[in-house]
Amino acid sequence: MEIRVGFGFDTHRTKSGRELWLGGVKIDATLGLDGHSDADVMLHALCDALLGAAGLDDIGHHFPNTDDSWKGADSKILLRESYKMVQQKGWKLANADLTLVLEAPKIKPYIASMKQAIANAMNVSEDQIGIKATTNEKLGYVGALQGADAYAVVLITRHE
Ligand code: MG
Repeated sequence: MEIRVGFGFDTHRTKSGRELWLGGVKIDATLGLDGHSDADVMLHALCDALLGAAGLDDIGHHFPNTDDSWKGADSKILLRESYKMVQQKGWKLANADLTLVLEAPKIKPYIASMKQAIANAMNVSEDQIGIKATTNEKLGYVGALQGADAYAVVLITRHE
């Protein structure tokens, strides 16, 4: 059995008047994240972790922000497509672990729904998905409510 690890990072600016989508779930918030798609920073980090683990090009290569077909896109579709490419190379997810860095609002009430949304998009079990959220202790751009960061690591396996 072969095993691979992958890491992904993403950041998006906040913007008023935009919806806040995180981990595939719409969050009740006054500030959204800006971006070409729905700007789901967590799912973008996860896509890059998956693609990176399989030695594929990154999310910006596969879903360019110059392509109007991805404008306002639901990032769960990007995730599904990314994982499809990984699976086409014979890989399967062992687990994914995500950390969101966001000052507000509190994310805890949404974590179960996020796990469900990610597991559904990838057709994996919810217990293969870990999600943590932390504030940035009011420091830097995240602390100033100017943006949000997300990190993801994945382990994928392939059987000969
Ligand atoms: Mg992004």
